[in-house]
Amino acid sequence: MVGMARTRNDPGTLPCGYRTGGAVAPRAGATLYHLGLGSNLGDRRTHLEAALAFLGGIGRVRKRSSVYETAAAGMPGSGPFLNMAVALETALPPLELLRACKAYEAAQGRDPRDSHYRDRAIDIDILLAGGLVLATPELTVPHPRLAERGFVLVPLFEIAPRLLHPVEKEPVVRLLARLKGAGEVRRIP
Ligand code: AMP
Repeated sequence: MVGMARTRNDPGTLPCGYRTGGAVAPRAGATLYHLGLGSNLGDRRTHLEAALAFLGGIGRVRKRSSVYETAAAGMPGSGPFLNMAVALETALPPLELLRACKAYEAAQGRDPRDSHYRDRAIDIDILLAGGLVLATPELTVPHPRLAERGFVLVPLFEIAPRLLHPVEKEPVVRLLARLKGAGEVRRIP
């Protein structure tokens, strides 16, 4: 597991090269959401940048991780994903944020009836909504597969290592440490 010590020369960098994310507090009346972005179709990096611009239009992007590449899990024949994590501050309540993200995905060509395991230009998942715990047919937060996925936890760790999972009662750094068989998650320049 990666160490947490900070180096003297580069106080924001962990020994393995991941950057540490300092805590961010949302302004009054807003929620700090953590989102996972993924793309495995077309110009993947452009899709991620466009999604960041979209998110900037409905809130304020407080942090963004590096971009990571991962093989498409459970999707034989599909190309690899680029993934990243984002901390978004917005006054939108969770369901409105979800609907805005799903509408954006649909506008990028994704059929909302598609299965989870389909190639997609852009996928936006709500990983955490502050300390909120919610389970409805339309939205579950924390995201139910958050703690199982290296391609989600590694970017999230970069921007928010000490962020607490309100159900597991563990910070992201511990969830990542306990993850086994996550596959390779490669940070790309
Ligand atoms: P996905 O294929 O991962 O984009 O999943 C999309 C479906 O998952 C949508 O129908 C959402 O209503 C549902 N969903 C439930 N919880 C979440 C969440 N935390 N973030 C994103 N989608 C969610």
